[in-house]
Amino acid sequence: MNELEALLTPDEKALHDALVEIAQKYGKFDEDGSGIWAGYEPADQNEEKAIGVKCSNCALYMGGVQCEILAFEVEPEGKCRFAVIPDGYVDVSGQMDDDMNNDDMYKADINLKPTDGMKSAAARALAWKKEGKRGGTRVGLARANQIVNGTTLSESTVARMYSFFSRHEVDKQATGFSAGEEGYPSPGRVAWDLWGGDAGYSWSRSKWESIKSRRENKSDTIVPTEADAVEKRDYSPKQRRAMAARGQAMADGSFPIADRADLSNAIQSVGRAANYESAKRHIIRRARALGLTEMLPDDWKKSMRKSLNYYDSRFTKYM
Ligand code: SF4
Repeated sequence: MNELEALLTPDEKALHDALVEIAQKYGKFDEDGSGIWAGYEPADQNEEKAIGVKCSNCALYMGGVQCEILAFEVEPEGKCRFAVIPDGYVDVSGQMDDDMNNDDMYKADINLKPTDGMKSAAARALAWKKEGKRGGTRVGLARANQIVNGTTLSESTVARMYSFFSRHEVDKQATGFSAGEEGYPSPGRVAWDLWGGDAGYSWSRSKWESIKSRRENKSDTIVPTEADAVEKRDYSPKQRRAMAARGQAMADGSFPIADRADLSNAIQSVGRAANYESAKRHIIRRARALGLTEMLPDDWKKSMRKSLNYYDSRFTKYM
């Protein structure tokens, strides 16, 4: 047993043991398109490593490039969807830094500071979690801390919030969601309030509408490239999974980019992405890897330069 395994709660340990048992019985998970898909994200694609969601914090990590349940080599800063991480290893302040790691910080036209109603819901939920109430995830806890601290949220976070509330509104129908009902607060209510509660739902809906409207109307949207005429290539689900494992596609297999033609197609279709900022970062990474950043829209190139300057100033501060 490694030291992280010893820190797992009983239910986390049960999950850990079940995953090991499955891997022993059926063979380690791989990503060749058959069997269980682990959704591994290499270090350069892992957007949650800043908050501690990474192999080196996982109880299934065996050191070096070895994972107890994955057949291929992993990186300490990579992650897969089965990560089993003890409480306390996910750092909320890292999430805040990560949220600043995009060009949202330069878009001050929409106020994305949490409201007082959201803060009181998130504070209530954090108090419930301290009492040991069930409900919510690590991401929910990180979100609640951001809200309580009054952190200006990124546009991608607003999109995630709106998506969360839309998917979980059905939880309101369960007994224990409302005060006075048996079992209050239900796990669904705890999770709901971690994300800012009813105030967070209406706020994220209204902010997301404003963001979408600005994106649709802004003049510096994607500039068509000379490769517009290139025929769109179809990849099979198996190919997409393999490309995701290599970092050529996003973790869910979307935006596969192996060459110039794929890059052009991705740039043209990014407006339809469920998570615009995440897709944009992936496309920029692939453009860099392919040495084709000249194909990126001008406003993206500008934001890349601003990002660089931001990090330059952070580093020189300590030199
Ligand atoms: S996060 Fe996934 S890939 Fe990494 S060590 Fe844990 S189980 Fe293995």
